[in-house]
Amino acid sequence: MSRADAIPAPDYAWLNGRIVPFDQCVLHARTQGAFWGANVFEGLRGYWREHDRALYVFRLDDHLARLGRSMKSLHMRQAYTDDEIRRACLDLLVANDFRQDVHVCVVAYFGMGPNFETMSHTEDVGVHITATPAPRSRGYHDGVATSISSWRRISDDSMPPRIKAGANYHNSRLAHHEAVRNGFNTALLLNHRGNVSEAPGSCVVMIRDGVLITPPGTSGVLEGITLATASELAHEHLGMAVERREIDRTELYVADELFLCGTLAEIQPVVSIDHLPVSDGKPGPVTRTLQRLYETAVRAEPAYAKWSTLVHASAPRLQPVST
Ligand code: PMP
Repeated sequence: MSRADAIPAPDYAWLNGRIVPFDQCVLHARTQGAFWGANVFEGLRGYWREHDRALYVFRLDDHLARLGRSMKSLHMRQAYTDDEIRRACLDLLVANDFRQDVHVCVVAYFGMGPNFETMSHTEDVGVHITATPAPRSRGYHDGVATSISSWRRISDDSMPPRIKAGANYHNSRLAHHEAVRNGFNTALLLNHRGNVSEAPGSCVVMIRDGVLITPPGTSGVLEGITLATASELAHEHLGMAVERREIDRTELYVADELFLCGTLAEIQPVVSIDHLPVSDGKPGPVTRTLQRLYETAVRAEPAYAKWSTLVHASAPRLQPVST
């Protein structure tokens, strides 16, 4: 990204109950969250709708539910209720007065351990929320070139991908950066059994003979919300079944279509794997149709209103803390 299109920092963030200037959303270096990446998080998207000039958060409650499951699995105390976090997200978006698509990160972190210990259990838990402009990716339009990573996906018996912990992304980072260094857009990871798991930040869906196929939850994958959305749309509008089963590496090579799905990625066509084109090397027709349906859903069209939360000021509104 050139300097000219660098995204400016927003005005505010949310830290432990208060809206603060963005630069003051800081943790101590010795919190376990900062030291080990001992945190769990959710990335959400807010979508700007031009015709009523309003911002809508997509599947907010589903993200908060998954955050709760991640916290439970780590024995993390819930410092704020779902209602408080929901309100905090909306208040932050109002405070920043965004008029564009945004990415919202809600992070629950372990604070300082007793005696500054980095490993001990602590009831000191905090939450920070940041929201930044998030234009649609280039990969959404052009598709992405991928390679099978030399790194294996973390697994449930060592570092469970189902728990959306910040530290998991060390694995994603190794795979993604290796792929980029080798000239690809991103990577696809196999699990320890040698089956397909997921991409560094999204789920993988293959289409063969009119069926959508994605690895099961036991393949080392996050339980994807975008995957659930895409599955529902495919079923409802295209009458396509979604099968969950193991996928071999070479099945990807002969897939009719392949796409990635994730909150930030949205629905991204995969156009090649290991330099082999997926079909004719162009985004496939089902993938393009799903992108159109997904666009309708995220922009809170009436049929999908159940998934969208209108961003509006609460009363009384949280006042930003003065600097
Ligand atoms: N897998 C990983 C590793 C991810 O980081 C993400 C993005 N959150 C996904 C899958 C897709 O999940 P979702 O559609 O819920 O964003």
